[in-house]
Amino acid sequence: MSLKHADSIKLSDQGEFQRILDRLDKASPALMPDQVDYLHYLQAWQAAYRGDYLTSDAMIGELLEKSPSAAVLFRTKVLKVNTLAERSRYEEAFQLESQLLAQLPEITDPDARGQALVIAAYLYAGAGQYDLAFEYADQVFKESPGPYSCKAEHARLAALYKSGKLEGIDEQFRKGVEICTEAKDSLYSNGIRFYMASLALQRGHADEAVSLLESNYASVTRSNYQVLISEFDALLAEAHMSTGQLAKAKRFALRVVEQSKHNEYAESLSIAYRVLYLIEKQQGHLDEALAYHEQYMLANKGYLNAVNARALAYQTVQQQLAAKKLQIDTLSKRNEILQLQQALDRKAAETSRLYIVLLLGGLAFIAFWAYRVKRSQLRFMRQARRDGLTDIFNRQHFVNEAEQQLQYCRKSGREACLVLIDLDHFKAVNDTYGHAVGDRVLKRAVDACQAHLRSTDIFGRLGGEEFGIVLPDCTLEQVLGRTERIRLAIAEVVRGDATEEICVSASFGVATTKHSGHDLRQLLIHADDALYRAKREGRNRVSVSDGRSKPQLAAVAATVDGLH
Ligand code: GH3
Ligand code: MG
Ligand code: MG
Repeated sequence: MSLKHADSIKLSDQGEFQRILDRLDKASPALMPDQVDYLHYLQAWQAAYRGDYLTSDAMIGELLEKSPSAAVLFRTKVLKVNTLAERSRYEEAFQLESQLLAQLPEITDPDARGQALVIAAYLYAGAGQYDLAFEYADQVFKESPGPYSCKAEHARLAALYKSGKLEGIDEQFRKGVEICTEAKDSLYSNGIRFYMASLALQRGHADEAVSLLESNYASVTRSNYQVLISEFDALLAEAHMSTGQLAKAKRFALRVVEQSKHNEYAESLSIAYRVLYLIEKQQGHLDEALAYHEQYMLANKGYLNAVNARALAYQTVQQQLAAKKLQIDTLSKRNEILQLQQALDRKAAETSRLYIVLLLGGLAFIAFWAYRVKRSQLRFMRQARRDGLTDIFNRQHFVNEAEQQLQYCRKSGREACLVLIDLDHFKAVNDTYGHAVGDRVLKRAVDACQAHLRSTDIFGRLGGEEFGIVLPDCTLEQVLGRTERIRLAIAEVVRGDATEEICVSASFGVATTKHSGHDLRQLLIHADDALYRAKREGRNRVSVSDGRSKPQLAAVAATVDGLH
């Protein structure tokens, strides 16, 4: 039947798939009702695949309302989970996915099972639950090694890459591409190549990343899969920028912006705006740079929110399940208490003491549960605000706190300063001693800073080896004194360790509200300028912004992470 045939080629031959859909759509009056539902499901799938969520949402909504056959209903829900996750609506995605997983034992269609399990693997990988992600991917291998092994391998590699377990990963990537090429699943082999190129760029091999992306670019474009096309474009923009090919970088970045109209929270969009901001800044176009920087902060905030949201959504659903269990426990305990009371009326007084002990036990049990649920909620809240390596504020939380503090200072007419810190030649530390030592150095540098901060100062990790401090109620002289002590402390503490003789220093950019005003974005731009100057003038020094952006200094922007 052509519906089944269309279903089987929807990834491998998009053109033919669309033609069959169009033909069936014209012939739909002659179709049976369950065939019409199947057709609508495939049409919704195609709309989502091309990034047209407006259409796919409407069609999915209609299908779910009509409740078609169990198989189509299940697959429609799987599709819905997918489209929710693509738009970073993780809480809804997790809720629906947990329903699907509960239903899974009754589902016999291997296709529907494969899809539900593969999506579970992606969702859990996205939420940082890597072991669960591996489990679901493995289950696919066990159940239907044939058609779904490429997809499951892709999900497994995504989890592996995100978890940072990079040992032997090149060989595993290579095998993954082989499996997907054999399965003629070019979309997924390109998905794996995207991770390979990301890793190459992360390791500083921009040319390798570009050549991998470019040689598969035509095939990705042919696939029409908007999410992956934007991922390729964003990575190409980043790679070209790092090799100084600004015109090319700009072209790819603008393409992402153009394509991302339906998906404002995608990581690709955040990367694209960052590239555009850095290029304009480097070329001295400060107005454009500022405009792109604003977009970048918005998208980046959105993306970071999404990353946190993913982890939080998982935890929220777990919490809700725990709360439900607690409710049920409470109800059954109440029931028990009621029965015990009745029993107490009947029974003699000497046995009553035992019941009272039981009653108290039940109540203590409920109190204990409530305490546990509350405690884990608080723990998750804290995790979402802290950087995993150094335990100081992450970028998102730093921005929120800093904005609040600055507003407070503005209202009460007080001064504040922003200090940006970037470790010098840190890449060389990683390259020479490895990432584990690099991580230790980062932690020690953070300890060194903290020793010189007050409880009212806001200290956060803005990215890689870059940190920010907002110091309220401080004049520039006081801040410079403190910054100098921090500069000396970083070099001292790190060198003072007996196990490794590593010399590390840091450069500092300082901006003050006196010159730059109380707007955090403006302060960040000025402190960033000063930081570039410190880098350019030889590193291991503190430089202060006079409150004016300096386009000529921006020429060194590419050498520093800046506001990444
Ligand atoms: P510069 O003096 O110009 O700042 O040189 P740099 O090498 O510090 O600058 P660059 O931005 O090129 O390199 C930053 C490096 O920081 C790249 C990356 O390997 C490393 N890095 C980023 N995050 C981490 C992390 O969490 N752990 C470790 N070990 N290294 C990190
Ligand atoms: Mg650095
Ligand atoms: Mg940096």
